[in-house]
Amino acid sequence: MAQVGLIGLGVMGASLALNIADNKYSVAVYNRTAAITHDFVANAGELQSRLTACETLQSLVENLDRPRMIVLMVTAGEVVDAQIDALLPLLEDGDIIVDAGNANYLDTRRRNERLAGSPVHFVGMGVSGGEEGARFGPAIMVGGDAAVYPQLEPVLKAIAARYNDAPCCAHVGPDGAGHFVKTMHNGIEYADMQMIAEIYELMRTVTGATPAQIGATFAEWNSGALDSYLIEITAEVLGAVDPDSGQPMVDVILDRAGQKGTGGWASIESIAMGAPATTLIEAVGARAVSSLLTERLQAAPLYPLALDSEAQSIETLKPQLEKALLAGKVCAYAQGFAVLQVASKDYQWQLPMAEIARIWRAGCIIRSSFLDDIASAFAPGDLPNLLQAKHFVAIMSNSHQSLREVLSIAIKAGVPMPALSSALAYFDGYRRERTSASLIQAQRDFFGAHGFERRDREGRDFHGPWGMDYDG
Ligand code: NDP
Repeated sequence: MAQVGLIGLGVMGASLALNIADNKYSVAVYNRTAAITHDFVANAGELQSRLTACETLQSLVENLDRPRMIVLMVTAGEVVDAQIDALLPLLEDGDIIVDAGNANYLDTRRRNERLAGSPVHFVGMGVSGGEEGARFGPAIMVGGDAAVYPQLEPVLKAIAARYNDAPCCAHVGPDGAGHFVKTMHNGIEYADMQMIAEIYELMRTVTGATPAQIGATFAEWNSGALDSYLIEITAEVLGAVDPDSGQPMVDVILDRAGQKGTGGWASIESIAMGAPATTLIEAVGARAVSSLLTERLQAAPLYPLALDSEAQSIETLKPQLEKALLAGKVCAYAQGFAVLQVASKDYQWQLPMAEIARIWRAGCIIRSSFLDDIASAFAPGDLPNLLQAKHFVAIMSNSHQSLREVLSIAIKAGVPMPALSSALAYFDGYRRERTSASLIQAQRDFFGAHGFERRDREGRDFHGPWGMDYDG
């Protein structure tokens, strides 16, 4: 009999099954296409003895210790509902279905509600780290009933990544909390990647440096404040050469970015919750604009811009670029965590902010020591926004001027920096005592009699001396 069941032997499922087996748990595996199941077990080398290939869901269920733990690692969406429907008649009291794919948290909330009255438990769980993470240690964000978590905890902590020996796995809240946290992780990932790409593009345009030279700069930064997995892989990617053409690999790759949806979900939720994560949203938008390849090619000759782009040396610009990227990163993470805080309140999830930062320190795509500082900032428990934490106030005070200077170079050179620009706008909006919102309120009252608050009196329903009753 096996201790864990796993359904779906695609990229993630196969790696996760091997990771579980590597940690001395026996795993019964099932895949819709049975040939894949048999090939998978046959090629599992010394882990084969801990794997049981099952051709049907019935045999998977029969091969599991009770209460059963069955992990779904299939395509998100309807496939998950179909798998749950197929499993339910086969399961018994106390069995647990864990959806480890990238579900939309609203689907997870719906599934949780659906199974709330049934004897079978449902747990939505976010897993980050891609194929390698799944195989050797991902970051794991568990949702669902807190009472069910202890049954999953030993396996999950065994397979999770470790940071200073602490497993990057935690129960973050009930129902859809795990998938929500994973969604926000991905939103931050989009922003981080986009900001790195913007800095790369500026370096390329205004310094004329080669991808390899720029890669070397990223490699240097990786031993400073920007030290992170994404900077590390950027350095490696920029140093790579296409074996067929001898060109830098990055020049051979078509400049049209794809997306699977989680960045969009993070953006939509941030707007819906009134905590707009503008840098995350811009990162999603930038990918969408990049995908308009045909239109971009048509538009380029329409605007033969004569730009005031002074040549700059990479050596001179480097320190400013590093600080600019760091400032942008602080703002993007501040936005992502602000969304988590609002969601936590709205859904009464009580998301453990410091713990979330801790479990992202290793295993996941945004892993970095920077997250260790975020965990420390949230540890006291009463931080309204990362931009108010002492450590980050010091970073921003030392770097926002560089971000301004870098952005002005980019604007003059016609290099789009939507994510970094929005990061600075968020910072400037957040730190201002007075904003232009009084004018917005006046405009709203003028055309819609929406009323406003006054600085000098109590009350919420004052109107201006506009003298019109216009309902535009
Ligand atoms: P793959 O496309 O590699 O695998 C999909 C799996 O789902 C396969 O086992 C496939 O079976 C199965 N499947 C698809 N359609 C059906 C169906 N109609 N009925 C039954 N089984 C079906 O995907 P990944 O492994 O990359 O992703 C799995 C989940 O993990 C997704 O939710 C994804 O978003 C998430 N994820 C992916 C990450 C990544 O880096 N790839 C990172 C983190 C999460 P078959 O072999 O028969 O086609």
